Amino acid sequence: MTDSLLIERFLDIKQRIDDLNATHQSCVMLLAVSKTKPASDIRTLFNAGQVHFGENYLQEAVAKINELNDLPIVWHYIGHIQRNKTRDIATHFDWVETLDRGIIAKRLHEQRPSELTPLNVLIQVNIDDESSKSGCQVDELPALIDEIGGYDRLCLRGLMIIPAKDSKDAFRRTKDLFDEIGDKYDLPQWDTLSMGMSDSLADAIGAGSTLVRVGTAIFGARDYV
Ligand SMILES: *Cc1c(COP(=O)(O)O)cnc(C)c1O
Repeated sequence: MTDSLLIERFLDIKQRIDDLNATHQSCVMLLAVSKTKPASDIRTLFNAGQVHFGENYLQEAVAKINELNDLPIVWHYIGHIQRNKTRDIATHFDWVETLDRGIIAKRLHEQRPSELTPLNVLIQVNIDDESSKSGCQVDELPALIDEIGGYDRLCLRGLMIIPAKDSKDAFRRTKDLFDEIGDKYDLPQWDTLSMGMSDSLADAIGAGSTLVRVGTAIFGARDYV
């Protein structure tokens, strides 16, 4: 894709989000999901005003993060977390949106370098109870929230979901859960609900998302997942 087309698509998505924000009196942020896309595309969008980028594949992400280290990009890890890969995540990212179990929280806390600010984390919830999906179950949330509360190198910011294809109401149910947790626990920075992708922006923002993760609608289709 040419730079001018990429920027046009990006501005288009920003406009759609702005319009939805106006309708819902919200202030939803855009995460540009750049997995499988070259560092040059990320640089182009950064220069056009985009600061937050999401990556799924660790090796690929670390290469791009190093290549772009002259830019103050805010990097979000949104892929599945393998236990033996936590050090690279703790070292290179600003946010982790896919935290779903205690052992990973413990490792990220222990491995977050002391010269960096605490790692922002979202708990990924398996809101549709799919057997094949990552994410913690709703009934596991209290224990995980308590555990993260004991780790001062992590800052718990909210929840993230990837709904099932045939999901009913996942956005609304997650928003309710997000509000319940915010009321029940003393979490000073509980402010982020990551839900909605290229094809579900309107539904997600209508239900109370604060962060949408958009890949295809900006960068075009991916050659691989
Ligand atoms: C790839 C990915 C996205 C972006 O999906 P698109 O349909 O390309 O917008 C969002 N969230 C997660 C977790 C992803 O892996």
